[in-house]
Amino acid sequence: MIKRFFVHGRFDRQITIPAPDLNGRLDILKLHSKDKKLAPDVDLKAIAGDTAGFTGAELSNVLNEAAIIATKSRHEEIQNEDIEDAVRKITVGLEKHNRIVSDKDKKLTAYHEAGHAVVSRFLPSQKDVKEISIIPRGVAGGYTMYKTTEDKYYVSRTELLEKMVALMGGRAAEKLVLNEISTGASNDLEVATGIARDMLTVYGMSDSLGPISLKVDQAYELELFGEEVVNEVGNQVRLLIDNAYVTAQKILSEHREELDKVAETLITNEKITAEEFEKFFEE
Ligand code: ZN
Repeated sequence: MIKRFFVHGRFDRQITIPAPDLNGRLDILKLHSKDKKLAPDVDLKAIAGDTAGFTGAELSNVLNEAAIIATKSRHEEIQNEDIEDAVRKITVGLEKHNRIVSDKDKKLTAYHEAGHAVVSRFLPSQKDVKEISIIPRGVAGGYTMYKTTEDKYYVSRTELLEKMVALMGGRAAEKLVLNEISTGASNDLEVATGIARDMLTVYGMSDSLGPISLKVDQAYELELFGEEVVNEVGNQVRLLIDNAYVTAQKILSEHREELDKVAETLITNEKITAEEFEKFFEE
């Protein structure tokens, strides 16, 4: 249910990380839960399903954190919700209920996250929204989590393009509704720009540059391919980002009513579940 891979925020990860697959994660979770008291409701298989992209060390950490959370909640055994909380904590950091957020920031965060969620909903390759929150967690002012369906080893061009659109959804909503842009989108922009650059230089997905790998360790090494190539990469990156931003703005303009409803509900309730989110789009 929680997939770190598609969570927006500073914690977002690169597209390719060698991590255990579903069965591998289940084995690791079983191994590290041997010395712990688990409640009967614990569903390790579901937890394994929710933790695509987690490394072995992170999975072990999930169970250690779950034990701490269980103790704090005075649970005699580790319950499933303790483990789910631990997964959230490791993905996005701890909720910080006592951080004081001004109404202005709250509105900005609400529209930013609602922007990601609404844009993603209209992109066929993007995952369904699991949870949206504007309660500060770790370094993030808010977050949108997406459902996990499967482990993926290959990502298509369409998927990368749509992922960029989803990432631009936050900034696009800020601009559309508040006619203001904030620093809150800096990580989204960094991730989106990284995807654009990888598409061109690592995956050879550009028509003008062709199927060539321009992968380099340091940016200046790209110059070895000639000035023309450097300029073309720069232009193409900008074009990909611009297109993604325009698409995100278009989706949000077309679904402005739903965007407002999602953001307003976030301002009031601070959190929206998958079911609540879908209701805004019914009829
Ligand atoms: Zn964002």
